[in-house]
Amino acid sequence: MDLGIKGKTAIVCAGSKGLGLGCATALAEAGVDLVLNARNVGPLEQAAKELRKFGVKVQTVACDITTPEGQAQVLEAAGSPDILVNNAGGPPPGMWSDWERADFIKALDANMLTPIMMMKACLPGMIDRGWGRVINITSQSVKAPIAALGLSNSARAGLTGYVAGTARQVAGRGVTINNMLPGAHATDRIAALDASISQNQGKTIAQAEAMRCATIPAGRYGTSAEFGAMCAFLCSQHAGYIVGQNILLDGGGVNATL
Ligand code: NAP
Repeated sequence: MDLGIKGKTAIVCAGSKGLGLGCATALAEAGVDLVLNARNVGPLEQAAKELRKFGVKVQTVACDITTPEGQAQVLEAAGSPDILVNNAGGPPPGMWSDWERADFIKALDANMLTPIMMMKACLPGMIDRGWGRVINITSQSVKAPIAALGLSNSARAGLTGYVAGTARQVAGRGVTINNMLPGAHATDRIAALDASISQNQGKTIAQAEAMRCATIPAGRYGTSAEFGAMCAFLCSQHAGYIVGQNILLDGGGVNATL
C-alpha cells in the first residue's frame, strides 16, 4: 500500500532503539525524511546510517528530549515537521510508597509534559499547512494499570486526557493526534523489566520472560517492526479519519471487551 507520505518530514523522539526506531524505520520505508533524537550519539548515528539506506534524509539531534533545551534543539533542526512521534524512556518500577514529589515531577516531565510541549510547538504549523500527524507512544497501562509502574500509570493518564480534548480541537484542520499503547515488546526496556523480575523473584531471565508471555494471548512479545508499521499507517494519508484514539498493540494482553 502506498502510504502517500513520501517527502514529508517527521520528528521521531527517542528513536535510536526499540519502539521509536521501529516507527522511524517504517516512516523511512514510506519515504519520510527524519529528524531523529536520542541521548547517546553512538547508537543514534548507527540508527541514522541504517535509515539513510531507504534513501531519505536523516538529521540526528543527540539530546535529552525531556528538557526544554533538548526540545528546542529538536524543533530547530526540524523546521516545519509534518509528523511528530513523541516518545521517551519510561519511568522506573517500584511501590506506591517509594515515590516522592520529585519522582512524580520527573515522570510527568518525561511522559506527559514533554509530548505536550512538543505538540504545542508543532501543531500551529501543521494547522497552517492543513495537514499533520501526531503519534504519542504511551502504554497499555493507560487501559489497565500495571501496579509496579505507578509513575507511568499516572503520567500517561494525564497525557491521554490532554490528547482526548486536543485531538478534537485540531481534527477539522487536517491534523490527527492518536496514541499508541504498547504491551510487552521485545526491546531493551522489556529486557530491563524482566531482569528486575528475575532478580526480585530469584528466576532466570528466560523464566521471567516465559512467565510474562504466558499472560499474553498471542504467547509472545511484539516486535518493533509490527509497532512501526501501525505508526506509519496512522501517519499515512489513509488515516485522516482516525482521531484521538488509543490503539492497543498488546497481543491481547489487556482482557477487555472494548
Ligand atoms: P528502549 O528500547 O529502552 O528505547 C528507548 C529509546 O529512547 C532509546 O533510543 C533511548 O536512547 C531513547 N531515550 C530514552 N530516554 C530518552 C530521553 N530522555 N531523551 C531522548 N531519548 C531518550 O524503550 P522502548 O521499549 O522502545 O520503550 C519506548 C517507550 O514505550 C517507553 O516510554 C516505554 O516505557 C514504553 N513502553 C514500552 C513497552 C515495551 O514492552 N517495550 C511496553 C509499554 C510501554 P538513549 O538512551 O540513547 O537516549
